[in-house]
Amino acid sequence: MKVYRTIKEIQDNIKRYQKNFPEGSIAIVPTMGFLHRGHCELIREAKKSSDIVVVTIFVNKLQFNDASDFTNYPTDESGDLKKCEEEGVDMVFSPSAEEIYGNSDPLIRITILELTRNLCGKYRPGHFEGVLAIIIKFFNIINPDKAFFGKKDYQQYLIIKKMTEEFHFPVFITGVPTIREDDGLAMSSRNARLSGKARVQAALIHRALRIVEKSFREGRSDPRELTEIGKDVIESGSLNKVEYFEIVDSVTLQLIDSEKDLVQEENLIAATAVFCDGIRLIDNIEIHSK
Ligand code: AMP
Repeated sequence: MKVYRTIKEIQDNIKRYQKNFPEGSIAIVPTMGFLHRGHCELIREAKKSSDIVVVTIFVNKLQFNDASDFTNYPTDESGDLKKCEEEGVDMVFSPSAEEIYGNSDPLIRITILELTRNLCGKYRPGHFEGVLAIIIKFFNIINPDKAFFGKKDYQQYLIIKKMTEEFHFPVFITGVPTIREDDGLAMSSRNARLSGKARVQAALIHRALRIVEKSFREGRSDPRELTEIGKDVIESGSLNKVEYFEIVDSVTLQLIDSEKDLVQEENLIAATAVFCDGIRLIDNIEIHSK
């Protein structure tokens, strides 16, 4: 496994690979490091369908709308490289912020007209524009055939998929199901920052989503009632504060706030963001009436 720090180094090596193996397919797994089993699952999926896998490790300041969240974001490069090696990753691209952005923030961002009105888009202004800025850079630098994203960050996955289609990037986007701890908590690098008590209460997030999913399946059809049920379960943990709990169409991400829409709509997700003792965690679940 090779680790590259500069754009030129990785580009030269990607070009060399493409020259030697014109039919070889390249997959990219973008991450912000502090890798866990969720990231490893993306790498495994990538390896199944591609000849080489490139993992990027870059804590992208541009997508943090909260300065302390950025400063406190956990890092462990040597642990990450060990995990990548164990998973059989071919190349790691781990550049400095300066390598990627130079000395100033980029002047150009893509405006996302839809898909950001609800969920995290509503509460993290500029976040997804920051995500797209780095993903476009990685697509251009690495020139992958495939890219793998987790459905834990469902809105991110959908926005990247849409951007890729609309801008004709020749990259096939795959969404990978969420990997969870034994008690259901979605794996996240931020989980490492939870205290013992907060960690126990964080499990209420997935429990709430499952209760909402079950209640819907069993016939409750008022989205306001369902989201209140979800919020109450999560906030039964004294350290938990719900930022949002929403039911949305899983294709358009439009809010479903009437019984009529909830019953008619076939593709739905319930999604939530929770400050668990101040640490922001997100999760979602598909919901079906049958
Ligand atoms: P991050 O390092 O948090 O930016 O995540 C990098 C990639 O891993 C993103 O595509 C995430 O959606 C994905 N990911 C993070 N946690 C999980 C998880 N628990 N299960 C599946 N994918 C995940």
